[in-house]
Amino acid sequence: MHIPVQFVGAGPGDPDLITLKGRRILDEAELIVYAGSLVNPALVEGVQARVYDSARMNLDEIIELIATGYGQGKKVVRLHTGDPAIYGAIREQMQRLDELDIPYNVIPGVSSALASAAALKVELTVPEVTQTVIFTRQAGRTPVPEAESLRKIAAIGASLCIFLSVSMIEKVVAELTAGGYPDDTPIAVVEKASWPDQQVVRGRLVDIAEKIRNSAIRKTAMILVGRALADDKTAESKLYDAGFSHEYRRIT
Ligand code: SAH
Repeated sequence: MHIPVQFVGAGPGDPDLITLKGRRILDEAELIVYAGSLVNPALVEGVQARVYDSARMNLDEIIELIATGYGQGKKVVRLHTGDPAIYGAIREQMQRLDELDIPYNVIPGVSSALASAAALKVELTVPEVTQTVIFTRQAGRTPVPEAESLRKIAAIGASLCIFLSVSMIEKVVAELTAGGYPDDTPIAVVEKASWPDQQVVRGRLVDIAEKIRNSAIRKTAMILVGRALADDKTAESKLYDAGFSHEYRRIT
C-alpha cells in the first residue's frame, strides 16, 4: 500500500501555529523532509520519523528522497515554512511527483504575512481605506514580471505584504515612492514573526530604510506597508453596523 506524500505548511515559526491536521500528519510520519533554513526545528523534535533537512539539497535529491520513501510504502511529509502556496517552490516538486505518478496532498499553513499582521495587531483590509491585500516581492536574483513591479503595484494603494526583500529595503522604498505612496505611508518590518526572538520595526516610507540599517534585521523578515497600518481612526465596517441588515441579522 502506497501512501500519498503530504506537503504540510509548518506555519511561521511558533510550533503551536501549525494546523491540527498538519501536527497529526507530522506525528504519524515515517520520513520528513523539511526546509531547515526557515522551519522551526522544534516542530520535528521528538517525532518518530527520520528527519532530513533539505537546506543543502537540490531538487533532484529532494525528489529522490521523497520518491524512495514513497516507494517503500512510508508515510512521507514535505514540510514547508508558512503556507506552501506562497514562495514555497512546491509547484516544481508537484510536477516531478506527477511525472513519477506519485500522489500527494497539500495541507495549508499560516503564512508569515498573516503572522506579521498579527504581530503588528493590524487589519489589512480596512473599510474605506483598502479592501485589497497583495503578496509580492522586490525583484532580486529571482525576476518579477515587469507588469508586477513594486512601482506598478504601488499605484493600486493596497496593503502590501512584501516577502524576501528586506535586504533590498532602499530599493523597495524607492519603488514604492516612485509608484505613488506618500513619504508618510506607514510601513513595518517584522523579523521572525511568532518566534521567541521576533523583532518589529515601525516607521514611515521616508525613514524605514535607515531604521532597518540601524537594526540587526537582515533576513527572514516581512515588510508590510499601506494606509491600513496607520493608527488614525477609520470608518467602521458594515458587518457589525447596527443599521446594516444581512443574511444573519435583520434590523429590528
Ligand atoms: N511560504 C512562506 C514564505 C517562504 S519565502 C510563508 O507563507 O510565509 C521566505 C520569506 O518569507 C522570507 O524571506 C520572509 O520574507 C518571509 N518569512 C518567512 N518566515 C517569516 C517569519 N517568521 N517572519 C517574517 N517573515 C518571514
